Amino acid sequence: MIMSKQTLSFQAEVKQILHLVTHSLYSNKEIFLRELVSNASDACDKLRFEAINQPELYEDAPNLEVRLSFDKENKTLTIRDNGIGMSAEEAVANLGTIAKSGTREFMAKLEGDQKKDAQLIGQFGVGFYSGFIVADRITVETRRAGAKPEEGVRWTSEGTGDFEVETITRPERGTSIILYLREGEDEFLSGWKLKSIVSKYSDHVSLPILMQKEEWDAEQSKQVTRDEWAPVNKAAALWTRSKSDITEEQYQEFYKQISYDTTNPLAYTHNRVEGRSEYTQLLYIPAKAPYDLWNRDKRGGVKLYVKRVFIMDDAEALMPVYLRFVKGVIDSADLPLNVSRELLQESRDVKAIREGSTKRVLSMLEALADSEDEADKAKYASFWRDFGQLLKEGVGEDHANVERLAKLLRFSSTHADDGVSFADYVSRMKEGQEAIYYITADSLAAAKGSPQLEIYRQKGIEVLLFTDRVDEWMLSHLSEFDGHTLQSVAKGSVDLGKLQDEEEKKQAEQVAETFKPVLDRLKDVLKGRAKDVRVTTRLVDSPACLVVEEGDLSGHLSRLLKQSGQGAPTSTPILEVNAKHPLVSSLESSDHFDDLAHILFDQAALAEGGQLEDPAAYVRRVNAMLVG
Ligand code: ADP
Ligand code: MG
Repeated sequence: MIMSKQTLSFQAEVKQILHLVTHSLYSNKEIFLRELVSNASDACDKLRFEAINQPELYEDAPNLEVRLSFDKENKTLTIRDNGIGMSAEEAVANLGTIAKSGTREFMAKLEGDQKKDAQLIGQFGVGFYSGFIVADRITVETRRAGAKPEEGVRWTSEGTGDFEVETITRPERGTSIILYLREGEDEFLSGWKLKSIVSKYSDHVSLPILMQKEEWDAEQSKQVTRDEWAPVNKAAALWTRSKSDITEEQYQEFYKQISYDTTNPLAYTHNRVEGRSEYTQLLYIPAKAPYDLWNRDKRGGVKLYVKRVFIMDDAEALMPVYLRFVKGVIDSADLPLNVSRELLQESRDVKAIREGSTKRVLSMLEALADSEDEADKAKYASFWRDFGQLLKEGVGEDHANVERLAKLLRFSSTHADDGVSFADYVSRMKEGQEAIYYITADSLAAAKGSPQLEIYRQKGIEVLLFTDRVDEWMLSHLSEFDGHTLQSVAKGSVDLGKLQDEEEKKQAEQVAETFKPVLDRLKDVLKGRAKDVRVTTRLVDSPACLVVEEGDLSGHLSRLLKQSGQGAPTSTPILEVNAKHPLVSSLESSDHFDDLAHILFDQAALAEGGQLEDPAAYVRRVNAMLVG
């Protein structure tokens, strides 16, 4: 414990943050109040939570509240709460270091758009420092709930290099943040101004924010404050109010508070669910992906409350991992107040909540995707750009909803560069077409240029082009849509079924027959490289392509696995040749049969975006041919 006054230095990151915050957020300075009120409210939530098992922590002040006051003479503004408070160690750690990772990213982002910056500050857990935007000195006086009055702490800093801490006596538990306003910041010494900031940002804070009443004193001819405190916010958690009492703006403002996003959400849903499990849900779909969306370890964005008592942030058990972009609040009437993350994972009530909430989110998305309204359609298209890959993850993760998810998927195809749904595809299927054809590749350009597509293009059959990393994984969990098998055009032999007429089939068989001696020689030369060599009808313009057997890893997937450092069982491909191509038809009479065979194979590998095992050998062979 710290007894006498000590001067300590801020952690290096804090110094940088302080500098950036005070310099780059000035245009949006009023957010400091939102941040400090939010800390006060968090502190009260923490007390309420700890007091579930230790009611004595309430001491003699069971009503949790925040008080805002100002002193015009001394130019100070004080935010006081009777929440959990801090011990000396906690004050040093919480106000002198930054615990959260991601500080570097935060700082990189702070240099941009100011409005965005102001939201980021809360997201990165550095809200406290925003006080220094308007104050050139901050004093924090605090005592932890349950500690003795003599164990109070005073923390003071000018927000530059260091801060001081000393022990004080503080009878009341909780924290006072005293801001010594900078020159020119007198606007915050006005009750009216403070009230308007509170109602803008903190109306939904579920504990009362009190201010002293002011009245005009004719004798002194100035405003004087009376010793009577009255709430200046609504103090009713938004989700507990009835839908009809909440405006669109209030829903949006609440979203911005909990998400630290500056843009309005794409959609939201607010429901009281009754039945086996009773809960209220207020869920939002953001318009833009956050920077850390691709981190699958990121916990979800849903806060858990039990009977209006805050329990935890980011309660990942409330949503499946693939819906980790959803923000909001779930307030359960059934869970015990002392529920832990571990217990949540096993609870049947939580399972019911997760299933119910998943369905709600999917319904919101369906409403946008299926809407006739152009604005909604555009919203869905933008959702898809930012979050589409997560729904593909969902296909593998959420078996119960695979069919609903499949309908929400959008792809590129040989017909359109984006926005193609399975339903669109099916509606364009050719007479007699049974399967849904697709190809996977590393990029859209590679997919479009795949030789395997040639016959489909010639016959006007649409092929879906899958180029996302997660596509292969998704495909391993999705084998059909609406009774139509999903079939890779690069796997197995071409089976166009009824799409190929008898004449074509007969011709192909004949070619295969007469070409057999060449095929046998090719097989022999390419032993070890190609599992088999056969004639195909797949190709129109290209001489050759590689395919794998049904059930084998596609070339694309083995490359992905290799890149991610996973030793994948490599499957030996099959070389398919186009007997009508001059390179192939002239093979038999060539003096360079062996070299040509290898060149055909290597080119087929290159065409599908693969890498050559021995590029030097390839170059040598081609050069030999060029010289003649
Ligand atoms: P965050 O709120 O995201 O954690 P802040 O910079 O706003 O980041 O606050 C840093 C920490 O300081 C908080 O996590 C909390 O531990 C402590 N703190 C700040 N204000 C208070 C308060 N009024 N009462 C108790 N602890 C507080
Ligand atoms: Mg904070």
